[in-house]
Amino acid sequence: MSLKGFDCPRGFGRVGIEKCLNDCPAAPLRCMTPEMLVTVYREFQPRPGVYHVTESKDPPQKIWLQRNRDFYADPRSLVAMTLGTGLHLLMESAPKRFAEYGYLEDVEYETPFEVSVGPAKLVGRIDRYSKTTKTLTDYKTGKAYSALLLKGDRQGNGKDDYIWQINRYRVYGRPEAERMVLEFSIKDWTVAESLETGLQPIETILVPFISDDKVREETERVIGEFSAAEETGKFRRCTEEEQWWRPVKSKFGKVMKPRCPTRCLYYCQVSGVCPQHQTWVMEHS
Ligand code: SF4
Repeated sequence: MSLKGFDCPRGFGRVGIEKCLNDCPAAPLRCMTPEMLVTVYREFQPRPGVYHVTESKDPPQKIWLQRNRDFYADPRSLVAMTLGTGLHLLMESAPKRFAEYGYLEDVEYETPFEVSVGPAKLVGRIDRYSKTTKTLTDYKTGKAYSALLLKGDRQGNGKDDYIWQINRYRVYGRPEAERMVLEFSIKDWTVAESLETGLQPIETILVPFISDDKVREETERVIGEFSAAEETGKFRRCTEEEQWWRPVKSKFGKVMKPRCPTRCLYYCQVSGVCPQHQTWVMEHS
């Protein structure tokens, strides 16, 4: 079980992927092209017992529901996740041109790895590894808020997720790496914010090391929790921190919605089949 199709943003209810692609009820004014729809759909087709490094930041309840419940999601809510994939595809063609400019660094791109962690497998893909400088680079697209967190210019939740993720790529994929760099493209960059914070549209951030033992220990704990939930069908509730309880603010700090579980309301694709969130919805409607 997994993502079955989409909650049609044009008001046609739940539409299976095949109908969506071949017989869109809103045609010719589709919400987006079939190419984009297939791309976002493919991101949500998990393999049993195999977890991606990017999933290691998710709560076990979300992981279990994604894998064990049929669900439908608004395709527009999935697009942001695929922007990074598009950027990677564009960059894959760049090395062919290096010879023209005499660029000689020995670099590997998009290197996949798969390792056993307890009874499960952990998979990942390293965006760029320079054998010459022993530098592992991860490309990310994200919001200015996240970039400021990573640079240490703002306090808040979320910074550690990136740091853990890249350290997992290193420990399980390229343990010989001597430095880790995050090349962060800011999708909501504005001149006004740049004048206030100094943030540039693309920021290169040196990622701090977490010891190999700590990375392995924490990864075994997280993947162990996912595996146990898969085996027993039992999982813990998401914590308030995992639900991202906070007010919704505009870019200029105006509170648009008081403190609420923002991940459940706006970012979690399984909220429609989540018992914890559905109970909250009933209590607050
Ligand atoms: S909807 Fe909220 S409570 Fe449910 S899995 Fe997603 S984050 Fe957790």
